[in-house]
Amino acid sequence: MVGIGEGEPERRPGEQIVSLDGGVVLPGLVNVHHHLCQNLTRAYGPAQDLELFDWLRTLYPIWSGFTPENLDLASRVGFAELLLSGCTTTSDHHYLFPRDGAPDLLDASVLAAQDMGMRFVATRGSMSLDTRHGGLPPMSCTQDEDVILRDSERVIDRWHDPSPYSMTQIALAPCAPFSVTEELMRETARLARDKGVRLHTHLAETRDENRYCQEHYGCRPLDFLERVEWTGPDIWLAHGIWFDEDEIARLGAAGTGIAHCPSSNMRLGSGVCPVPALREAGSPVGLGVDGSASNDTGHLLNEARMALYLRRLESGAAGMSAMEALELATLGGAACLGREELGWLGVDSAADFAVYDLHGEIAASGAHDPVAALLLCGPLRARTVVVNGRRVVEEGRVLTEDLETLLPRHREAARQLVERAG
Ligand SMILES: [Zn+2]
Repeated sequence: MVGIGEGEPERRPGEQIVSLDGGVVLPGLVNVHHHLCQNLTRAYGPAQDLELFDWLRTLYPIWSGFTPENLDLASRVGFAELLLSGCTTTSDHHYLFPRDGAPDLLDASVLAAQDMGMRFVATRGSMSLDTRHGGLPPMSCTQDEDVILRDSERVIDRWHDPSPYSMTQIALAPCAPFSVTEELMRETARLARDKGVRLHTHLAETRDENRYCQEHYGCRPLDFLERVEWTGPDIWLAHGIWFDEDEIARLGAAGTGIAHCPSSNMRLGSGVCPVPALREAGSPVGLGVDGSASNDTGHLLNEARMALYLRRLESGAAGMSAMEALELATLGGAACLGREELGWLGVDSAADFAVYDLHGEIAASGAHDPVAALLLCGPLRARTVVVNGRRVVEEGRVLTEDLETLLPRHREAARQLVERAG
């Protein structure tokens, strides 16, 4: 972005001017934890009232049928939802690679992001530890570790663009301590550092995970992580709920980021992330909608509202302000992804922003503070969204996808996926 101002600016060659009269403008929101493919199993009955481990065991057999077409449809629906909420950058933690599935599955989400104009950080997830060896997932949705590492290298070489304002980046993301081995964690960290990409995983989400780590590794989840060389500012962790004081200090000193996912944590009854303590210790904290089977929506502005209210439930009405919640959804997320050009607006920031029209929203009618109203009167939808200088939403409609055609195909794919699992 070359400038923001009032009046009639002078237009130089190659520049475009966007008029935003009457709207409230936010820097594009940044989503740092998602599983796009899960929107094919939203509100699935048998998994509605379960905690994480049983919820996963119920859904794995369905997810083990994912195809590239499924991921394409789910990504398009997920990107449209996020864009309409004002989110312009998203990561996706895709760890479901059916053993007998397509070898280049991840590419479907990257191509969909490029087509729809979403700024995207695809994380190549993985699961290798199946039930036969003490892991949680069935063998059908795990892969051999040499296959995982080869494909991780392939997607980095094919898609990762490290330059500022990059629209496509790759990170590596073994799923969780209960679905990968120590060796895969260590080898993944070495590969990521060799290639200069970031690392992501789930950690400290539930007390069940703490017990699992004690039983299988003889230590707590963060000890496990440090043992496999996962220490540093090039890592961001999803959830980060069950850390003790000493662990929070260690994470902060290392500059490791946290993706706070309040809706998912409430839906699964997992716990409450200690956001203020983590930030005070030095960890960047961003927001994640998490997968749409545990949220079950992808509205990032609403996620900021949930972060605000969950914090207030925990520590009183002064526990977090609306501005602090918006900071998590913008600068906090950008810091987790190591992206200095995102999450703010000004000269040299990326041209990513969302415009909300409070006058057109019945829920915000009469609101006195337009910025706080975005959260307190929410969840609101964006009127206009621009990503990397390209208009992708106008008048509350996604311009880069035909939702009337997409949604029936997505519904049918969701139905078939569950049917196939029998
Ligand atoms: Zn997750």
